[in-house]
Amino acid sequence: MEQQDFWKWAQRRAEKKRGATATGDLDLSELPPDLRLSIPQIQSLHAELGEQLGKVALILTDNRRRMVSVRKKKGRHRLRLHHMFVGCGEDVVCALADLARGGEQLDGARETIKDYISHNRDEISFDVEPEELEARGEVHDLQQILERWRDHLDDESLDEVLITWGRYGRGRRTIRFGSYDFDRKLIRLHPALDQEWVPPFFVEFIVYHELLHALYPPKQASSRRVVHTPEFRQMEKRFPRYEEAIAWERRNLPRFLEG
Ligand SMILES: [Zn+2]
Repeated sequence: MEQQDFWKWAQRRAEKKRGATATGDLDLSELPPDLRLSIPQIQSLHAELGEQLGKVALILTDNRRRMVSVRKKKGRHRLRLHHMFVGCGEDVVCALADLARGGEQLDGARETIKDYISHNRDEISFDVEPEELEARGEVHDLQQILERWRDHLDDESLDEVLITWGRYGRGRRTIRFGSYDFDRKLIRLHPALDQEWVPPFFVEFIVYHELLHALYPPKQASSRRVVHTPEFRQMEKRFPRYEEAIAWERRNLPRFLEG
């Protein structure tokens, strides 16, 4: 499966599982294409909100400035939530439902939500300070992998690209295996990939994918920014073990998300 089809696939799966519109709409289209989430956890968040509020339209976002927004339209609740809420506990779900219902005594609910955000903020942070750059992991050496690809791809625009392991901890609900910072020309890999059971070819695949972001910048197509352009996808498929990498990811994603 191509990564660009991931959300479509996830959504189809989600729809199939919960049976048509039992809990209302679930919109994953605003999530960044490189983010991975646990589908069962998305479904249970949606279902738990549905139990409290009836039919709920749930839109998951990557908006850090506005992590929660609730609306009621024609008697139906519509919640826009940052993806960090996937996997949250019952108390947080109740607080979200209280907030959606409205009313006057919402201080407790707001407090619970604020608390949850401040405790989980680190999980979504991808920032690494310049002095923290560290390409050498415990298992995989990213610098070596980067050099090999640079030789192979032989393109001047890759000369200044830097690489580092991300700084945050392991075990989470969402994962971005890698990211590319266009301003800093910096590739960051998720530290969960620096483990013995993660095969080198998969780490190489992620580095390759991020390098392609440097070679094929996003394009604006009408109102949409296309990050993985057709050229990008074509190049990505030229990774020697492409099918194997995609299959490995699908098989092992739960292990990353629940570990
Ligand atoms: Zn990408």
